[in-house]
Amino acid sequence: MNLDQITQQYLSLFPADLSGNPMQRQTPKVLSSTTEIAHFKNPDLIIFNEKLSEEIGLGKIEKQEDTDFLNAKSLPAEMKTYATAYAGHQFGNWAGQLGDGRAIFTGEIKNAEGQKSEIQWKGAGATPYSRHADGRAVLRSSVREYLMSEAMFHLGIPTTRALSLSFSGEQVVRDMLYDGNAAYEKGAVMTRTAPSFLRFGHFELLSAQGEIETLKKLADFAIENYFPEIDIDSPNKYADFFKTVSEKTADMIVDWFRVGFVHGVMNTDNMSILGLTIDYGPFSFLDEYDLNFTPNTTDLPGRRYAFGNQAKIAQWNLWQLANALFSLIKDESKLEKILNDFNTTFWIKHDEMMAKKFGFDQVQEGDDELFTNAQQLMQDLKIDYTLFFKQLESYDENIDYKVHFKEVFYSRTTEDQFEKLKEFLGLYQNRLAKNNISKADSLTLMKTANPKFILRNYLLFECINELNEGKKDLLNKLLTALENPYEEIYPEFSVKRPNEYDGQTGCSTLSCSS
Ligand code: AMP
Ligand code: MG
Repeated sequence: MNLDQITQQYLSLFPADLSGNPMQRQTPKVLSSTTEIAHFKNPDLIIFNEKLSEEIGLGKIEKQEDTDFLNAKSLPAEMKTYATAYAGHQFGNWAGQLGDGRAIFTGEIKNAEGQKSEIQWKGAGATPYSRHADGRAVLRSSVREYLMSEAMFHLGIPTTRALSLSFSGEQVVRDMLYDGNAAYEKGAVMTRTAPSFLRFGHFELLSAQGEIETLKKLADFAIENYFPEIDIDSPNKYADFFKTVSEKTADMIVDWFRVGFVHGVMNTDNMSILGLTIDYGPFSFLDEYDLNFTPNTTDLPGRRYAFGNQAKIAQWNLWQLANALFSLIKDESKLEKILNDFNTTFWIKHDEMMAKKFGFDQVQEGDDELFTNAQQLMQDLKIDYTLFFKQLESYDENIDYKVHFKEVFYSRTTEDQFEKLKEFLGLYQNRLAKNNISKADSLTLMKTANPKFILRNYLLFECINELNEGKKDLLNKLLTALENPYEEIYPEFSVKRPNEYDGQTGCSTLSCSS
């Protein structure tokens, strides 16, 4: 591995605390603080994403030193590691300074094409931003992040990537259900990578602290490095920056709706300025279609982060970013326009996306009604979101619809409900007849928009249980399946969530404990 080519631009370009002080504290005026990794004594590598490692310019594992690096056991002598400070709004409230509490940066690396990727460990120890927590991660949350971020990538959805996963060799204490029953769990550490891990919260922190010079510098840095479409000399550059972040965010949320992904903790510190899905915690794919579904037990009272709220919340989060950038843009009307446009753009893109799911070449008049109709049907009849579209692909009016859709329901279906489904299928067939493309092209649209494999929470649950017992069979199968989500490699994964997992923690709901 090219460990000697990893650089640390944040430490050299921005104000940083280079003291290495491990004390958890407020760090005003700096963007990052150097911090040591845990130096695990007995770690054990579980997965290494060699292909990704090659792509980002890090290369293959060649010697023990490389494995020790991934495992957060030891580092090349000169390598400085650090955590960044950010703030955020959590569940709608200002939370002040947060920061990388259990993510530690090693820096960034360039590949042959000159593209930079930042690399972090997650779970490699406490940082100045750990806020009385241990900076460790348990196996269950690390497996979930590794597999899900890779699943999202292969679905074609902007996301951070997973580079490696290891047992840390330590036991970690967690009160998983926050009910006073703490227990030891296997600890883990992963490495992850992204062009940038900058979050809305980085900008919020600098703005709240009145560090306007650093804020400006960070915005310029982001524009120059990640937004080549923006003219760095334009007087409008910061508004353009906000507009582009807003558009990328809209694209990401449209994709989440396409595959039925619920993030679960859309706090502003978990929002990437590159529009990447980031910080995988109590997330879930939808099994049964439900706009009110939130996988996060902490979110259950208000359902702020429920599936159907995600566009509204993204806009709310962008509003916080607008506030943070106000001192650079100083024009309320511009910011308001961009925020309002988010809504319009989102719904246009959403309907275009839904059209593809149904195999329509373009959105025609009345389609929005058909989409709402379908959503209502799936919600009322407790229909599996992914399986519904799969069955729709192979449906035609000569097929017995009751048999064809038999396996998509999560509750017993009444005659009345079957009638509703039949009615919808009739409307759908009429609409398909108005398509301007061939049946084959329509099917291709559907096949590229509708995944056949989604990484359901019950599969992750089973995989984690197996790994805890030292077995890797399901892990390897899931890795293959998630790399080919638009194919049906293992038919046994193309089924709805088994009944025994209804209401089971870790399958339908999850806590934030990780
Ligand atoms: P999250 O809800 O995972 O986005 O985390 C919110 C904040 O808490 C972030 O600043 C995290 O870095 C921090 N945090 C979460 N878990 C831990 C942990 N085990 N140790 C230290 N910090 C943590
Ligand atoms: Mg987070």
